[in-house]
Amino acid sequence: MWQSVCEHLKQKLGDEVFRNWIASLVLVDAGEECVKIAAPTAFMCDWVRTHFSEVLLEGCRAIKPSVRAVEIILAPTAAGEPEGAHMAEASKEVHEHVQGLGMILDKRLTFHSFVVGKPNEFAHAAARRVAESSGVSFNPLFLYGGVGLGKTHLMHAIAHHIREIDPKRSVLYLSAEKFMYHFIKALRSKDTVSFKDRFRSVDVLMIDDIQFISGKESTQEEFFHTFNALIDQKHQVVLSADKSPSDLAGIEERVRSRLGWGLVADIHPATYELRLGILEAKAEKEGGVPHEVLEFLAQKITSNIRELEGALTRVMAHAHLVGRKMTLELANEVLGDVLRACRRVLTVEDIQQHAANYYNVRFRDLQSPKRTKVLAMVRQVAMFLVKELTNTSLPDIGRAFGNRDHTTVLHGVRKVQRLLQSDMKVREDVDLLRRMLQS
Ligand code: ADP
Ligand code: MG
Repeated sequence: MWQSVCEHLKQKLGDEVFRNWIASLVLVDAGEECVKIAAPTAFMCDWVRTHFSEVLLEGCRAIKPSVRAVEIILAPTAAGEPEGAHMAEASKEVHEHVQGLGMILDKRLTFHSFVVGKPNEFAHAAARRVAESSGVSFNPLFLYGGVGLGKTHLMHAIAHHIREIDPKRSVLYLSAEKFMYHFIKALRSKDTVSFKDRFRSVDVLMIDDIQFISGKESTQEEFFHTFNALIDQKHQVVLSADKSPSDLAGIEERVRSRLGWGLVADIHPATYELRLGILEAKAEKEGGVPHEVLEFLAQKITSNIRELEGALTRVMAHAHLVGRKMTLELANEVLGDVLRACRRVLTVEDIQQHAANYYNVRFRDLQSPKRTKVLAMVRQVAMFLVKELTNTSLPDIGRAFGNRDHTTVLHGVRKVQRLLQSDMKVREDVDLLRRMLQS
């Protein structure tokens, strides 16, 4: 039976993955319902459990449909022994180091489950490139964007992909907080040399949310050295943060400038289309969600994708639990508080939409390079309101209004400020719009 399962897995996973991870597994017990498989080392055991449990179960069931569970155990003779001989010496060491430092990857966060749209297509393409190239592409790749927009998702996707196509390359993924934690621990135990070695021995280092390092000088220093060493040795580095390198506060100038040396890719807030796309993808897996409910959620929940997913989950869970059909009414009921909170989170698009309606111009024209006198005026008012009511930076505002320069934005904002003092009509318009947006 095991032989056939192996054949099946080889087909499914490809020769290389099979050789690296499956070939050294041994069938210990083939019960009717439960199959026990032993891995030669603790690390392999862990790894196979987290990465291949499902595939193994599926493989066993393909050959023997009565199987319900696959248990992966550590081969009795191998307990306590160092890494088996199936892996090259060098990669063995790396894996052991990495094991104690890295964080577990979320299996669901893959490229496959990442929905691509205008706001994230650039970051996605850059992430793919880094994940697919065997050498170093952009170094570092710096992903940035607001909360819940998919930075961590892309980082995990890169790590999964590299591990899948080349298990011998060591990928270390961790949050900046974890990095700090390890560093401080190493300082305490006077073990910074081995700390450095451990980090510098990885092929791909990924640190998530590096804004946490800001202001922590000694950690920054260490991070910088590690970072430099890795880049000099041509190891890939991938970083994420909530702001661009130039906007990160509390980061030393030389660190900041080096962060921007590779490729900096930003993820913009999701548009309606992307929000709907993500909901559709998620709902497809679960089934039974009427499209109008998805549209409703995509329209109402604009803050970020995490909130959006949470809302869908809540509506679905509620419908299942109380056995009601999923309707607009139910969604409204279940999400009452979320919707109220969301109303206060204004996006640039909301403001453009309102301003366009109010002045009777086309919404899309506000985002275009077109320059008529009326459009220019409406754009300036909208830019002013965006500046006042959201945290959007001037360059981002410029981009949202037909790719204009931040100085153009500043000029527009100042002009409206002046007009508010001198022009009654403008003041009335702005007041009205503001009230509409805030209600
Ligand atoms: P960030 O790290 O930027 O704060 P996350 O990567 O944690 O955001 O994303 C928040 C949630 O939204 C996650 O569950 C993630 O899977 C989901 N998500 C974000 N962007 C996408 C996308 N483009 N397609 C599918 N899911 C996404
Ligand atoms: Mg994150």
